[in-house]
Amino acid sequence: MPIRVKADLHTHTIYSDGEGEPRDVIISALNRGISVLSITDHDTFKGSLKALELIRNDEKLRRNNLIFIVGNEVRTVNGDVLVLCREYPGSDDVPRLIPEILDWVSENNCIAVPAHPYDILRHGIGDRVRKYKWHAIEVFNAGALPIFNWRAARAASELGLPGLANSDAHVPELVGVAYTVFEVEDLTAESIFKALLNNNVKAVAHYPSPGLLIKRISWSVRRRLRRINPAV
Ligand SMILES: [Zn+2]
Repeated sequence: MPIRVKADLHTHTIYSDGEGEPRDVIISALNRGISVLSITDHDTFKGSLKALELIRNDEKLRRNNLIFIVGNEVRTVNGDVLVLCREYPGSDDVPRLIPEILDWVSENNCIAVPAHPYDILRHGIGDRVRKYKWHAIEVFNAGALPIFNWRAARAASELGLPGLANSDAHVPELVGVAYTVFEVEDLTAESIFKALLNNNVKAVAHYPSPGLLIKRISWSVRRRLRRINPAV
C-alpha cells in the first residue's frame, strides 16, 4: 500500500542566508506536517550536516521519523541548482559548471534539480533546463512570481520530468508553505529518491499568506542591512 508524504526540499538556515538555526527549520517543518525535509544552504552542506547531527542526538526529533535529505543549493556560473544526496558526499566542493555538476552528482549518488529555473530575478538557469539532462525541475517556488513558475512547470511537462514544489524558506515559519507529495513504499530516504526518479510526485503550489510574506520581506531587508552593518 503506497504511503503519501509531504516534502519540502529547498530551505535555508544561518549556514547561508536564512534566519533560523537548522533546529528551527526542522521544528517548523514538523509543525506543518512535512515528513521529508532538505536544508539546502547556498554552496554548503553545513546546514544539512548540523540537522543530521541534531536528529541523531535528539530523542524527541528522532521520534517524529522525519526523513532528512542532505542538500545544497549550488550557484553555478549559469544559475542555481539544488543538489540532493542520499548521504553527505564528504565535502562542499561541488563543481560550478553544469556539465561537471551532472557528472559529480552521478559519481556521488546525488541528484540535480534546477531551482526556480525561469526566475530572472534570482539566478535561474533559464532554457538550460532543456539543454541538459536533469533528474527533476523545481516547478513551483513559493518565492518566485507566477509567470516564472508557470514557465518551469511547462518545461517539466514538455520534458516529461518530475516537478517539485518547494518553499525556498529563508525564515523558519515559511517552511512547508509549498510542498511536493511523494508516493512511497516505505519511509526511507531511498524510497524518496526512487519515487522522485519514477515521477511518483505531485507538486502542491501555495504562496505564503500576507502575514508570512511580511516576515519574508522583513528578513530580506534585515539581511541586506546586515551586509552594510553586521550589528543590525
Ligand atoms: Zn534557495
